Amino acid sequence: MKPELSVVIPVYNEEAGLARLFERLYPALDTLGMSYEIVFVNDGSRDRSAQILADQFRARPDVTRVVLFNGNYGQHMAILAGFQATRGNVVVTLDADLQNPPEEIGNLIAKMHEGYDYVGSVRRERQDVAWRKHASRAMNYLREKLTHIKMTDQGNMLRAYGRNVVDLVNQCNEVNTFIPALAYTFARKPTEIVVEHEERAAGESKYSLYSLIRLNFDLITGFSLMPLQAFSLVGIALSILSAALFVALIVRRFILGSEVQGVFTLFALDFFLMGVILFGIGLVGEYVGRIYQQVRGRPRYVVQAILEQKDERGNVSSISNVRE
Ligand code: UDP
Ligand code: MG
Repeated sequence: MKPELSVVIPVYNEEAGLARLFERLYPALDTLGMSYEIVFVNDGSRDRSAQILADQFRARPDVTRVVLFNGNYGQHMAILAGFQATRGNVVVTLDADLQNPPEEIGNLIAKMHEGYDYVGSVRRERQDVAWRKHASRAMNYLREKLTHIKMTDQGNMLRAYGRNVVDLVNQCNEVNTFIPALAYTFARKPTEIVVEHEERAAGESKYSLYSLIRLNFDLITGFSLMPLQAFSLVGIALSILSAALFVALIVRRFILGSEVQGVFTLFALDFFLMGVILFGIGLVGEYVGRIYQQVRGRPRYVVQAILEQKDERGNVSSISNVRE
């Protein structure tokens, strides 16, 4: 009953590109010569995506399963729900917009067969707008320094995970997370391959600058305390400096008398320090806010229904209101 390969695809308002995705995805998987299932997760799309996925389920019920959320919980929650539904020995994640060519899945699988349990991928030539490429390179560099996670190209979702890794990810209860990094922490033998990257087939990116910033905070705060620790070090350094300045000014006052000039220098220094302090408070807030969300322990997502074939005879089941 269990397929060898599960493919998980999060879908949010992708009605314009889904047909093209099906046209390429199913043939690409058929040629692999292994049993597979495709798990689509509809992340509360407001367009016709859910309808299109349901139609596709009816067309290929043997290899298609659809998890329907009751709202928009984000790409990484959608992948987590997809992981819960998978049964395959190898799980591959992919974007729905055809930026990750389905034909590359075979290369990921080949690498998995060499004994790796995590195959990441690096986009040969990333097809996105310039500012995103630069910002992403900078964040990649920062993450490399702050966490122990080795990934050349963190933003790329085309990846393969072994069952051991997926099972461990499924045991995590993190509210804010970044799947490629979380999975990496559980991998025994990770590696990477180079893959092609295409322009979005249809529709537009679901990430605004703001949501990209939020996502990168999730990535850093979820895997490192270094920002907090670095901040205490900055605090110590500044205290020592200001103590030295204080002593110098007191001594100067007794030797040369009181100083009157330099008020604006003082302002400049003050504003700089206020900036540092505000940044520090904000940084602590990023962690505290996440702790708060975590301790509230609300469901991370709500599954409204799962479209899947129950048995060989073709019975279709659908489960309602599963909370995670
Ligand atoms: N996505 C999702 N929920 C969201 C945002 C995005 O499921 O809230 C899906 C989206 O449908 C796509 C994938 O995540 O399959 C990547 O999104 P997108 O292509 O917009 O991101 P980008 O390629 O611009 O980073
Ligand atoms: Mg995309």
